[in-house]
Amino acid sequence: MSAEVHILGAGLSGLSSATILAKAGKDVHVHEIRSDSGARFDGDFQGIENWTSEVDFFEELADWGFDATEFKSDSFGIIDLIHPDDVVTNPKTEGVAFRVVERGTAEHTIDQAFKRMALESGVKIHYGVKKSPEECDIVAAGPRESSAVAYGEIFHTRHRNLVAFQLNDKLAPGAYSYLIIIDGIGLICTCLWRKQRNSGRYLDETIAWYERNYDLDRVPIKRVGGKGDFGIPTKYVHEERLYVGEAGGLQDFMWGFGMRYAITSGVLAAKSLLGEFDYEKEVRRRLVPLVKASAINRFLMNRVGNRGFKMVANQWMRDQKRSGDGLNFMRWLYKPGLFRRALWPIVKIGMLRRKDLSDGRVVHRMPFRKSLKRDSWERSIEAERVREQWKSTRSKGGAVSFKESDV
Ligand SMILES: Cc1cc2nc3c(=O)[nH]c(=O)nc-3n(C[C@H](O)[C@H](O)[C@H](O)COP(=O)(O)OP(=O)(O)OC[C@H]3O[C@@H](n4cnc5c(N)ncnc54)[C@H](O)[C@@H]3O)c2cc1C
Repeated sequence: MSAEVHILGAGLSGLSSATILAKAGKDVHVHEIRSDSGARFDGDFQGIENWTSEVDFFEELADWGFDATEFKSDSFGIIDLIHPDDVVTNPKTEGVAFRVVERGTAEHTIDQAFKRMALESGVKIHYGVKKSPEECDIVAAGPRESSAVAYGEIFHTRHRNLVAFQLNDKLAPGAYSYLIIIDGIGLICTCLWRKQRNSGRYLDETIAWYERNYDLDRVPIKRVGGKGDFGIPTKYVHEERLYVGEAGGLQDFMWGFGMRYAITSGVLAAKSLLGEFDYEKEVRRRLVPLVKASAINRFLMNRVGNRGFKMVANQWMRDQKRSGDGLNFMRWLYKPGLFRRALWPIVKIGMLRRKDLSDGRVVHRMPFRKSLKRDSWERSIEAERVREQWKSTRSKGGAVSFKESDV
């Protein structure tokens, strides 16, 4: 490998690769189309999970030389799990189930922390630059297409810190919605795994639901969102370029928790360029089994509506009662096992579509699924009020960082 390394994309995957390579003495250049790291987001809260490995993710970060105190994070061992029939239960664990971090360009975000660590290691980041993947050694350019989208609203609230996770096929077609509150700032987000027209109404109705059930005293600030690209490529190294993070299909098909995959794959790519192991083999050993397990789970979830979601929620609580730890169920979901392995050929045919990319790569993608009849329903009066309130916030300057037309 030449001493100069070029990386496309200054997101989490690209910056983690860059930092490790620069620390090893390489002359690392990261090319980023946006004006800053994290500019794809705008103050969104996201969770870094602790269930796809027995090792705590922050311990892994420390082993790789990253300082997790560089960004703000809040640990959670308990959530409100909202079943589709509005029953609320509490999966919990003694340790850390996940940590909430902020995405965006503010100083305390994880994106800016990774940028700082990269710069301190000597990485040169070129912002506002368009470069082709063919000119780079590592492609870390994030999602290309949409398999699912998420829309959210950020607001002021006096409610205590909380994470609520709702399985609900009406408010979040095929997926889930969530409420995260950290230090007076709240985010209500709904994820759509079936494509809809006028997607904003799902967010309005979801906000109305949370307002009915939590004392939020909500003052809207802005609306955010983004897309997820779920696909499994036939290879992770193409023409000597290493594909990392979401650009390499290293994403969690089940819930969209892609940050851990992004950073881990970035680290693996760097270590492979430094001669520690072969990226293709290591990704297939460490990450692909998890991605496949998540795809199989997604396939099963796509088959069911609220009745299936209710069964999942009940099973989760039964498992917690039996084992005494709510995290075990989440860990079990990502264990390949015989049943899941047997399902894989069916999932590949039934859920993924082969796509030949213009650069010669082949990806088996999960397309954005069509809406169903049951996705059309009458808006509630409360949701109408949420809509009007947002219109007023918007007219006073409330920003929108992701729109239907971005899909
Ligand atoms: C609304 C939403 C909520 C989410 N919630 C969670 C969550 O709770 N937990 C979790 O773990 N994950 C979550 N994710 C997923 C997670 O954000 C991503 O999987 C992760 O950020 C992927 O990292 P990445 O480095 O692969 O890509 P990105 O973070 O997208 O970084 C890619 C970078 O490449 C740049 N780029 C793109 N094209 C080019 C180009 N041609 N040239 C140069 N630069 C380019 C982009 O501007 C971007 O900065 C969420 C995603 C969304 C959209």
